[in-house]
Amino acid sequence: MVRRIVTFPAEVLTRPTERVVEIDENVKRIVKDMFDTMYHAEGVGLAANQIGLSLSIMVIDTTPKEDAPNVKLVLINPEVLEAEGRVRFREGCLSFPGLTVEVERFERVRVRALDERGEDFEKTLEGFPAVVFQHEFDHLKGITFLDRLSGWRKRLALEKYRKLQREGART
Ligand SMILES: [Zn+2]
Repeated sequence: MVRRIVTFPAEVLTRPTERVVEIDENVKRIVKDMFDTMYHAEGVGLAANQIGLSLSIMVIDTTPKEDAPNVKLVLINPEVLEAEGRVRFREGCLSFPGLTVEVERFERVRVRALDERGEDFEKTLEGFPAVVFQHEFDHLKGITFLDRLSGWRKRLALEKYRKLQREGART
């Protein structure tokens, strides 16, 4: 089921999500809805708080991006084990419709999480999938890509976003 995507500055996007205690039918339903919602919005990653649920769950599918490795993952209670290298990437966010900002991220991350069956796994992500992971991982911590900017860059991005919202509200 496609759910409504929460947009900034909703409070649920600005506080850390809760760890998932048990992977039950409800969590499996949420994961399925997150994929439905992400594909419907033509996104490549989604965090549970973006559909209003303060839970440590993210989904990623980079398959639609042609020049990137095809990585499709469910990550529940994810952790970063190692991170290295730096890349700059222009990112969009389904919770900031129309806005893109250039953010610096790690080039490679080794992550650990549970999948939707409750199995523990580790994986190394590199390049675009690593960037998507870090963007969603920030969401789970209550951080948005605006928080990765400083000073005037953050202020400009925020002004641009408010302008986009006003224009969107008029049409
Ligand atoms: Zn986002």
